[in-house]
Amino acid sequence: MGLDFNLLNTTESGGRRGQLSLPHRVVETPVFMPVGTAGTVKAVPQDVLETLGAELILGNTYHLYLRPGHDAIRRMGGLHRFIAWPRAMLTDSGGFQVFSLSQLRKVSDEGVRFRSHLDGSSHFFTPEHSMDVQIALGADIAMAFDECTEYPADRPRAQESLRLTMAWARRSLDHFRAHRDEVPWLGEDRVPPVSPLRPGGEQRGQSLFGIVQGGMYQDLRRESAERLVEMDFDGYAIGGLSVGEPRELTLETISRVLPMLPADKPRYVMGVGYPDEIEQYARMGVDMMDCVLPTRAARHGLLFTSEGRVNIKAARYAEDQGPPDPACNCMVCRRYSRAYLRHLMQAGEALSATLNTIHNLAYYLGIMERVRKSLAAGG
Ligand SMILES: [Zn+2]
Repeated sequence: MGLDFNLLNTTESGGRRGQLSLPHRVVETPVFMPVGTAGTVKAVPQDVLETLGAELILGNTYHLYLRPGHDAIRRMGGLHRFIAWPRAMLTDSGGFQVFSLSQLRKVSDEGVRFRSHLDGSSHFFTPEHSMDVQIALGADIAMAFDECTEYPADRPRAQESLRLTMAWARRSLDHFRAHRDEVPWLGEDRVPPVSPLRPGGEQRGQSLFGIVQGGMYQDLRRESAERLVEMDFDGYAIGGLSVGEPRELTLETISRVLPMLPADKPRYVMGVGYPDEIEQYARMGVDMMDCVLPTRAARHGLLFTSEGRVNIKAARYAEDQGPPDPACNCMVCRRYSRAYLRHLMQAGEALSATLNTIHNLAYYLGIMERVRKSLAAGG
């Protein structure tokens, strides 16, 4: 097993306070994971992420496979060492980007042939290849190769997509189990290269999570969950959400699928959400979430604050000497004014993305910290 999941407390409404012990970090859950697409959480240096309290960040397999390439990253000791990030990482399977970014996709039971969005070159991804790439990258957690069912999808389409995802989950798991000891930082005399082993812990390898699909059909979701649990993954994700469906449907799907998953394994909802959503889902018993929203919105000048959303480009902030968020104690809010952030945005300065993103991440990570304290206190 690649991880230990220690549940410290469960509330009446199902919220869980836990600790996820990974090779590079003991992660406090529920956790929000900033998205580090191509080996960087856009515009934010790794030491600042550490200061903000980020414990687990994402890397996108599709992007890293295309550039600089997983073999190059393996030769350099894996993704942690390459990007100088000593804490925990998770890589997605590449599936989502293959389906959303690449061109001329051709899907078969064997895998997906696609053309790179960078240079049009042809590539073929199979569950086995996704595992090989993710093992070479060497994140603490890898994800099974799946097809993210689009919304809306009629029932036959959702059923066919689920059939593929379940077959790929089995193949992902089998290949992962056969090759997991090839992770670059795990060897007879090698330890995780950047950080020391966690205190008192034995050396552990990567973990693999399965992904529940099934579109918005609850019986297909149940079938998906049951079959994955039978395969016995290290953790379970709920995928295929935040793909354009109404918010009530996201909530309903999460609340129905959570009880189908084993209580003693981590549960990860992929690609959500707005600040109030991540709090709500964490209180329902979701242990892990990731979303590009705080980082992407920041680059467009949208700040999440205790006073609601602030569009920093607005003219009314031109001479506003107040902090971006009066209730926020982050390094940006302590030092800079709304007027200055607006000016940086207007002037197209590179610092704009950095400062906006730091605040938004501090806001998201702060929400989760408050939720963890609240869950620990029983509510
Ligand atoms: Zn702030």
